[in-house]
Amino acid sequence: MRVIVLGGSGTYPRPGEACNGFLIQESGADILLDFGTGCMANLLKTVDFTRLDAVVISHMHVDHYLDLYPLFYAMRFHLDKPWGLPLYAPRGALATMGKIMGEDSRAYLERVFTPYDLQVGESFRAGPLQVQCYPAFHPVEAFCLRLETVDGPARTLGYSGDTAPCPGLVEAARGVDLFLCEATMINSFAEHAHGHMTSAGAGQAAREAGAARLVLTHIWPTFDREQSRSEAAEAYDGPVDVALQDMILDI
Ligand SMILES: [Zn+2]
Ligand SMILES: [Zn+2]
Repeated sequence: MRVIVLGGSGTYPRPGEACNGFLIQESGADILLDFGTGCMANLLKTVDFTRLDAVVISHMHVDHYLDLYPLFYAMRFHLDKPWGLPLYAPRGALATMGKIMGEDSRAYLERVFTPYDLQVGESFRAGPLQVQCYPAFHPVEAFCLRLETVDGPARTLGYSGDTAPCPGLVEAARGVDLFLCEATMINSFAEHAHGHMTSAGAGQAAREAGAARLVLTHIWPTFDREQSRSEAAEAYDGPVDVALQDMILDI
């Protein structure tokens, strides 16, 4: 399994760097895992958007789904009509998107995307990956996700989405090869975390889950990412990195 970082900034972009979004490549399939502000421009550097196999959105905050709009319009007006892209997202995702669209475009949302509701405790197949949904702790319905290869030796990816520390986060990351965990706040800003993780909290969750490797994402744009990394490393014995745009993570 290959993870290409389309963006890793939390809440709003860094200069020249998009919000959370990851392209997962496995067995020839291309799957998006979140697709926040600025990700579309980076996706286009790597793959043909008409050949995506599935999109998985952890929750409907704009820093995780906003670039579904340019993806929608690119597909909506493509002459080949590459429609019916499976979209796994919280219930009502397309209705949420449609609120700021004109009637003519809104009518095409369910043709361009084929929506499936994420449900806690359920799993689904996205191309060659099995995806399990766990409850996150966040102001809107949100999911921690565990992605596992189906063919060949199992490779596992845990993804926090956005969440405060919670049991679902640790379960999603239990024994994974790679744990992609948000670390919005440096430790000294813990009181401002509001449904998010601190860097030490991400390290603690990785340790508790027994994850083999921790990669931090969704760090608030004004923080020094090396500080986040070192704070997480104090709470976790394994390797810790920060998800930087265009980074390739092979599992
Ligand atoms: Zn976010
Ligand atoms: Zn959020």
